[in-house]
Amino acid sequence: MSEIKVTVLGAGVLGLTTALQLSHRPNYKVTVVAKHMPGDYDIEYASPWAGANYMPVGKPGSNLATFERDTWPELSRLATGVLEAGVHFQENVLYNRKKDATTATGEWFAELMRTDPWYKDVVPNFRVLSKDEVKPGYDSGTAFRSVCINTAIYLPWLAGQCLKNGVIIKRGILTDVAQAAGFHHSGQPADIVINCTGLGALKLGGVEDKAVYPARGQIVVVRNDPGVMTSVSGTDDGSDEATYIMHRAGGGGCVLGGCLQKDSWESQPDPNLAIRIMKRCVELVPALTGGRGIEALSVIRHGVGLRPMRTGGPRVEKEKINGVWVVHNYGHGGYGYQSSYGSANAAAKLVDEIAGPKAKL
Ligand code: FAD
Repeated sequence: MSEIKVTVLGAGVLGLTTALQLSHRPNYKVTVVAKHMPGDYDIEYASPWAGANYMPVGKPGSNLATFERDTWPELSRLATGVLEAGVHFQENVLYNRKKDATTATGEWFAELMRTDPWYKDVVPNFRVLSKDEVKPGYDSGTAFRSVCINTAIYLPWLAGQCLKNGVIIKRGILTDVAQAAGFHHSGQPADIVINCTGLGALKLGGVEDKAVYPARGQIVVVRNDPGVMTSVSGTDDGSDEATYIMHRAGGGGCVLGGCLQKDSWESQPDPNLAIRIMKRCVELVPALTGGRGIEALSVIRHGVGLRPMRTGGPRVEKEKINGVWVVHNYGHGGYGYQSSYGSANAAAKLVDEIAGPKAKL
């Protein structure tokens, strides 16, 4: 059987999921190379900072919506029967204010907050809240069953699944995407490189995608359990501030968010923003602290991550760069987990197309 050598550049949720999906094909020999790995916490590495939950935001007809739709079945399968992956179901309640429609967070959540969204037939238990159920100050609300992923368990689990299937994972810092071909563990050049560098795609030689930019997210991780996953369309504290609460599986704590600060590269938590986040979350769900205010929050850590945004949405395309076939899979903004399997499978399909008859599926 002829081997197809693939190097995946990047070990975030997109790189590892893509490597995992390829590792199921018998004649692909896959290497993952990256500067950052599961276990690292770094401002250049978005994946550990995510909540992470499933809250679809792709516009109907976009590749993102397709990826989100195609990802739900796998996340649901993991939450149902692969408990060691650190993914669990949570009921998600959303509250919408019409006045947020034109704010940064309102635009981000526009599809999510609809009362008739495309994803209503994808997730279980979707329903529109009755007037009595909508909190005062909000115009409408919806609820559905989502998942929350404990990224501290899930990323190592993904890496472990790759290793089990023979993927070789190693460290490297690259300046040019075509260089990745030289990192294949066989010692021979890879036939295909997959570019899963997230925000790194902005500066990576051979790519330098100017449509990529950061959207800063700040979170507070606490030990308190709110008993519900919930988000609102916006706040009165600023157009780019948000309020969301999700409880991670397997002792991962509860993530309180947040914000969507476009073009901010600031890596340090802003203490004033942290207080606003905690106040808003406790106001929204007083049960977080049993009605005792933010002083009763037990903080595990404050965190900042940069979402790898891309104007036009995620890029999943093939391209020959300096004689090397490259499949791009980056630019997943604030939705890299909820679109991960759909996007990885789309990238894997492009790899199959390049491999042509050599691909044995
Ligand atoms: P990254 O995780 O950033 O990984 C990039 C990889 O490429 C790293 O391994 C890095 O070392 C490597 N790399 C880059 N350049 C180079 C180079 N030159 N040489 C070598 N290696 C390189 N998404 C959801 O679906 N649900 C959520 O609830 C959610 N919540 C979020 C909350 C916050 C606060 C943040 C910040 C993000 C959130 N996200 C969420 C978004 C999600 O985290 C990202 O979309 C996702 O992590 C992007 O993954 P990635 O693999 O593309 O990039």
